[in-house]
Amino acid sequence: MIQTRNLRFSYPGGLVLDFPDIDVMQGSVLLLSGPSGCGKSTWLALVAALMAPTGGELTVADQPLHALGHKAADAWRARTIGFLPQKLHLSDALTVQHNLLMAQWAAGQPDDGLRIAAVLQDVGVGALAARKPGQLSGGQAQRVALARAVLMQPRVLLADEPTASLDDQSAATAVNLLLQTATSHRATLVIATHDARVARFIPGVGDGQAGYQGLRLPLRAQQEFAAVM
Ligand code: ADP
Ligand code: MG
Repeated sequence: MIQTRNLRFSYPGGLVLDFPDIDVMQGSVLLLSGPSGCGKSTWLALVAALMAPTGGELTVADQPLHALGHKAADAWRARTIGFLPQKLHLSDALTVQHNLLMAQWAAGQPDDGLRIAAVLQDVGVGALAARKPGQLSGGQAQRVALARAVLMQPRVLLADEPTASLDDQSAATAVNLLLQTATSHRATLVIATHDARVARFIPGVGDGQAGYQGLRLPLRAQQEFAAVM
């Protein structure tokens, strides 16, 4: 479902990130780990076609992304990728219901209130559709953002640091919910995190168990240098 070969991204200014090759099977779970600054969010942005690789090959859901133009990338992303960003980007001016309607609209889909109700229900916030994000707890807001991420039945679900600033119990709940949601939507799940607890919440990662994979990105040379200084 996700295949990379010699994937590279160079930021303007000279920072070059080279990523290890990986094949992520359809319906499986990838734990993308490594210290802050190693390139996890960059990798997610490449897989979501939010940025184009500057080198190598990247194929996601049978679509080679290394040569995809902007417009094609937008259309492809809307029907393929669900993203749970670290900052949730819910609109505070709108109700939960309207935040999800906006997402349908942005994806070029007709309004589908029944679908929204079902997805909110799925992630345990079915009763909160009329609230505004400011009236939700952090965990509830994250559930709403997760509902938005899976609203279009994406084949790939990407979560960036989903346990940041959560206590142990909430972190375990958040990871479980991601696993369950990905399974029920038959989506391939990638969790990017520097949080060592997450691996403990995912059964099978590190045991070589089928369906789970880990990819640990190395510390960047620049940081190693900085660490020595
Ligand atoms: P992680 O998510 O693992 O913490 P990131 O992918 O956010 O890492 O960042 C990887 C590296 O790229 C870091 O050294 C970061 O400083 C750098 N970086 C991130 N965004 C930019 C940017 N817009 N311009 C230049 N460098 C960036
Ligand atoms: Mg990051």
